Amino acid sequence: MNSYDAIILGAGPAGLTAALYLARFGAKFALVEKMTPGGLLLQIFEIENYPGLIMPKGYELADAMEEQLKEFTFDRYQTCVTALEHKDGKVTLQAGEEALETKTLIICAGLHYNKLGLPDEDRFTGRGVSYCALCDANFFKGRVVGLAGNGNQALEEAVHLAALVRELRLFMRTAAPQADRVLQKKLLALKNVVIHKEVAITALHGESELEAVSIRSLQSGETEKFAMSGLFVIEGMRPVSEFFPRELVLDADGFIVTDTEMRTNLPGVFAAGDIRSKLCRQIVTAAGDGATAANAAYSYLELADA
Ligand SMILES: Cc1cc2nc3c(=O)[nH]c(=O)nc-3n(C[C@H](O)[C@H](O)[C@H](O)COP(=O)(O)OP(=O)(O)OC[C@H]3O[C@@H](n4cnc5c(N)ncnc54)[C@H](O)[C@@H]3O)c2cc1C
Repeated sequence: MNSYDAIILGAGPAGLTAALYLARFGAKFALVEKMTPGGLLLQIFEIENYPGLIMPKGYELADAMEEQLKEFTFDRYQTCVTALEHKDGKVTLQAGEEALETKTLIICAGLHYNKLGLPDEDRFTGRGVSYCALCDANFFKGRVVGLAGNGNQALEEAVHLAALVRELRLFMRTAAPQADRVLQKKLLALKNVVIHKEVAITALHGESELEAVSIRSLQSGETEKFAMSGLFVIEGMRPVSEFFPRELVLDADGFIVTDTEMRTNLPGVFAAGDIRSKLCRQIVTAAGDGATAANAAYSYLELADA
């Protein structure tokens, strides 16, 4: 069984930053990623809010992060981690066919955005359909957009979007929002927001970009079609949790609870990026978490060896 001081699980911005820091510390570590390195960066067209870089494409930032790692030597596994066990101060991982052992583990496996489940949804993702208003709202300034969702996050993002767009149509499956009253009041006061209650989005239309959305009333079954250039799907998200051990402490939504140094409740196990319990899930915060986690993991190793 291959044995390491540290293993990083996931090579999105959190994992790639953790790798850069561990490499510069000279740690013996491995990076395990099931896909192409870059994580969600590879789904982003242009990034408007990464400090110091003007509108890089997502893949350009991913390539640059990879390029920075080229001068360092560490092991890479391109495979999926399916299980992990924390026992006697060590962590063992099932990574594809390989069993790996490590003194410290940094979990950077990200999250899944809940989707509508429509046939053309993937085709329009990044071409009108977005799962993050904080990230993409600016691309829709002065245009007509929709938002699917009814919770606190959906309403918060709707208020933020309404300030930028010409018209916002809010689609919810329920008869009323499941959100704080204060947010509901804010939304109702906005003149450019039209709320459609008890409806389901049934189809997305367009050639290469989203052009319109069809909805069906859950009461009458009647259908309507609205022209719009953007649709924000804010139906919640869930961490990539398939391999979590039972003892790992999670928040009510299933995200990993850490302290400010990215330490979980399991000694030697750290979490960074979108997978941990926090409010701001962005590239820059994922990178910051990755740096902090690597630093904390290295301090943990130094203390263990002292
Ligand atoms: C469409 C879109 C647009 C966005 N736009 C912006 C933006 O403009 N600005 C901004 O700051 N943020 C933006 N974001 C958010 C940003 O991309 C994320 O906050 C950031 O990528 C989180 O980084 P991460 O490393 O935590 O996770 P991720 O980027 O999700 O990386 C996780 C990695 O772990 C790997 N992995 C998962 N499970 C396993 C496993 N079991 N075994 C091995 N590997 C595994 C995955 O393949 C993935 O590569 C956007 C997100 C989306 C979806």
